[in-house]
Amino acid sequence: PGGVLISLDDITSIEQNSIELEKAKDAADSANRAKSDFLANMSHEIRTPMNAILGFTEILRRGYSRDGADAARHLATIHSSGTHLLALINDILDLSKVEAGRMEVEAIDCQPYALAHQVIQAIGVRAKEKNLQLDLVVDGRIPETIQSDPARLRQILTNLIGNALKFTEHGGVTVTLALDTRNDPAALRIDVHDTGIGIAQNKVDQVFDPFVQADSSVNRRFGGTGLGLAISRRLARAMGGDVTATSVPGEGSTFSIALTTGSLEGVRLLDDAALQ
Ligand code: ADP
Repeated sequence: PGGVLISLDDITSIEQNSIELEKAKDAADSANRAKSDFLANMSHEIRTPMNAILGFTEILRRGYSRDGADAARHLATIHSSGTHLLALINDILDLSKVEAGRMEVEAIDCQPYALAHQVIQAIGVRAKEKNLQLDLVVDGRIPETIQSDPARLRQILTNLIGNALKFTEHGGVTVTLALDTRNDPAALRIDVHDTGIGIAQNKVDQVFDPFVQADSSVNRRFGGTGLGLAISRRLARAMGGDVTATSVPGEGSTFSIALTTGSLEGVRLLDDAALQ
């Protein structure tokens, strides 16, 4: 008397629950690991320029520079380390805002061609410096206006075109706008194609993770925070779109932004000829 009866059903559901619990624990473990990796990486990224700033100010303060030119070099290093730190901190703030869902994205009138044109104008000097071609192309007809967030779209485009120029030595970069009407709502695709160094197959997806750089030896040469693509993809997703990549090492990469357009009713369409 007084015993507890447990039916087979109960046991099955207990087992089921403990499997669910294990799964949830695994997911939490991997999220925690990602978080501590992130913090370790971030501390490392901050410590390097910080040490340069403290080290070189100490040298200057103690009057250890050999001559004026030597001191000027130290000052230049301090300045670029400070600039890098500021970029890093801005990126970290942006990333934490999008991760926490606190980045507000708008859906207002936005002119994708005009915007891409402005970004290319602003960044074009980098292409000239490296003697690279930088073209803007419209494939078919695209809407003059879509519903999106112009400031965020500019940020994504600046990051993708900046990367394309950074990782290309010969040839150039083509930005292509095209409308994909197979789905409703229609999607505007912006492809940023380069003829640069490309990315190894097993790294193409990872480069969207925070702090991942495809090749650290290359990146030491090129600089960067390793956060740009993580931010770009999350921003695009917050706008109901995405950023994806395909690449052939040694031949080049294509980063594609897909954006839902909002209703195209009554919207003027543009083609390449109209824009020349
Ligand atoms: P960052 O450029 O600051 O390192 P990103 O998140 O923008 O950070 O890019 C992450 C990594 O992805 C880069 O370090 C580089 O290895 C790789 N990558 C991004 N864009 C390109 C590109 N167009 N061609 C080749 N590699 C790229």
